[in-house]
Amino acid sequence: MSAVVVVGAGIVGSSVAYHLARRGVTVTLLEQGPGPATGVTGDSFAWIRSSGGHWPGGAQDLREYVRADYRRLEGELPEVSVRWTGSLSWADSPAQGQRPGPGQFRIGRSDIAALEPNLRDPLTPAIHTPSDAGVEPTAMTHALITAAKAHGAIVLHNTAVTSLQVAGGRVEGVLTSTGLHAAATVVLAAGTNVPTLCVPLAADLAIAASPATLARVTAPPGLVKTIVARPDFEVREVRDGELLLVVPHVEGSAAALAQAAQDALQQLKEAFQGSDQCSLLGYRTARRPMPAHGPVIGYATHDRSVYVAVMHSAITLAPTVGRLIADELVTGRPVPELKRCRPRGH
Ligand SMILES: Cc1cc2nc3c(=O)[nH]c(=O)nc-3n(C[C@H](O)[C@H](O)[C@H](O)COP(=O)(O)OP(=O)(O)OC[C@H]3O[C@@H](n4cnc5c(N)ncnc54)[C@H](O)[C@@H]3O)c2cc1C
Repeated sequence: MSAVVVVGAGIVGSSVAYHLARRGVTVTLLEQGPGPATGVTGDSFAWIRSSGGHWPGGAQDLREYVRADYRRLEGELPEVSVRWTGSLSWADSPAQGQRPGPGQFRIGRSDIAALEPNLRDPLTPAIHTPSDAGVEPTAMTHALITAAKAHGAIVLHNTAVTSLQVAGGRVEGVLTSTGLHAAATVVLAAGTNVPTLCVPLAADLAIAASPATLARVTAPPGLVKTIVARPDFEVREVRDGELLLVVPHVEGSAAALAQAAQDALQQLKEAFQGSDQCSLLGYRTARRPMPAHGPVIGYATHDRSVYVAVMHSAITLAPTVGRLIADELVTGRPVPELKRCRPRGH
């Protein structure tokens, strides 16, 4: 029997498995897909925010640790390659304005041009967040899993959890397509599938699945230098010569989505000089787990047999929540940083 079974090898489950395994816990990580990051993680823009943006509920209490935890992870796992480029963002409308938060600066034309020399006629001012970063989310998930395995974790792909195994009112593991996996604690990190897996617990989780579309674009290396977040598109270089481009989501036909991706590419070309050769590699819509009140992290049963970990902006938060969850599970003591993330009623 594993001490802990983690369900879901997205960025959250992989981080939890890694942080538990490196502290000596016997962990099994179960993933329904053929490999890690086959859920929404693989289609993420993966902007690591350090300030600004929306930090709902308990996410606010985690913000101060994001940067240090990424720096720590880079030290522990050299394969985790963070692009510390900073970000440039603009409010939805110039009239609306945008107030800089901590570590953010309002900058004008010459500073914008120094940071993004290929950007044509930028609106001014912009908000510059030098401490923001981006990561390749699939590579990071693979790195966490490789390291978890090196610390003794067992990782099984093509293993869908069909239900919790309940005996005598207590969850004793999970049933999967390949059999029973017994565990003292089950950590549900299955993203948008967590509410379904929690049905027998009657837990009130309020987690929506919100669609978002990401395109991949070939580009001359260095065309986009920071993370550029404008009202009409968001773009960043994920690796030399490849951009991630957030496409405004449209409901409707495949043709409408294809048009939206082409439109976003066109906006990009109009915005950046030297982008004539940019072309779409592909685009996909994925469903982000979106809890109504911010991250949901903690025990979902009073006997502590089931623990849930679901949040939006999980790329930003994964190193921090992985560390804190491992702390709670290893010591048995609740960590104060997660106090405002608890499932309702717990
Ligand atoms: C276009 C877009 C842009 C985004 N931009 C950002 C951003 O800039 N910054 C940021 O921080 N976040 C961003 N996000 C959100 C971020 O990607 C998600 O918060 C994060 O990937 C969620 O990770 P997860 O591990 O919880 O979920 P997932 O990646 O979905 O992982 C859950 C895993 O569980 C597996 N699973 C599900 N059910 C079962 C089962 N029954 N049995 C076994 N396995 C199961 C799934 O296959 C999946 O691999 C963005 C998302 C999108 C789509």
